[in-house]
Amino acid sequence: MNHRSAVLALLDLALSGRVDAVRLVEPDSPALHALDLAATRGDGVFETISIGAGRPQALRPHLTRLAASAAMLDLPSPDLDGWREAVLRVAERLAEHPESWVKIVLSRGVDGGDRPTGWAWGEPSADFSAARTDGIRVILLDRGYSSDVATTSPWLLAGAKTLSYAVNTAVKREAARRGADDAVFVSSDGIVLEGATANLVVRIDDVLVTPRTDLGILPGTTQADVFRWAAGHGIPTRIDTLTPHDLLRADAAWLVSSVRHAAPIRAIDDRAVPVDAELSAAMNDALAARTE
Ligand code: PLP
Repeated sequence: MNHRSAVLALLDLALSGRVDAVRLVEPDSPALHALDLAATRGDGVFETISIGAGRPQALRPHLTRLAASAAMLDLPSPDLDGWREAVLRVAERLAEHPESWVKIVLSRGVDGGDRPTGWAWGEPSADFSAARTDGIRVILLDRGYSSDVATTSPWLLAGAKTLSYAVNTAVKREAARRGADDAVFVSSDGIVLEGATANLVVRIDDVLVTPRTDLGILPGTTQADVFRWAAGHGIPTRIDTLTPHDLLRADAAWLVSSVRHAAPIRAIDDRAVPVDAELSAAMNDALAARTE
């Protein structure tokens, strides 16, 4: 793979999680120990932050969520000032690109070692204009967990942004096999949850609605910003329980996430959903204009 435009920063982390140094290195330089638990167990947490012309978007909420995920995995509490510096150092190297992203990773470290591993990787974003304007097709998929999984079985880490994303990527392949672009999870008791790597926002009776976050889903930074923007523009919002039946009443829907931003949904399973091009464009303009 050509990583000419990629930027890599390694963090020197203390046992406590303190960031002792942030070092920019060649992106293709050997950086990760073969026994790092990130690689061998997916035992760690991450965040992916959108960067607009070198400026991170929603950085604070991303760092807060990194700390929340780390706490769920009993990882050392991340030193957020140090992680912030790492993101800013990588982001400034990407300033010539209108859109890019930085992924930050905190793992439990090398198996048998005594300190966590951390790094930040950034690169220019792919072109998401088709997803943002033409929209995407999604399928509903059973996640196999009950909607109260976060309380009944916290060890399953539902709602933490862990490195164990093999399931999330398998879901995208399943969607592709069924001729769709993405998927929306439904709990085993029939409650609509989230996308594979995005949150769901639907418009029902002129209200933007998103599922509750106590269902073991990720509290989305993009969804929060969409709702803040909507509130400022007189568009009512609501956090609620949604069933697949409720989705039949939606006259617009989006999957929202960092990097791709607001992708209007044009079909759920085989049912067409109208795309509100004007509202989607306004949402995406607002998301692109965000700062820290
Ligand atoms: N839900 C899941 C499972 C995700 O992986 C992501 C982002 O990758 C999101 C939701 C959206 O979160 P954010 O808007 O903070 O990127």
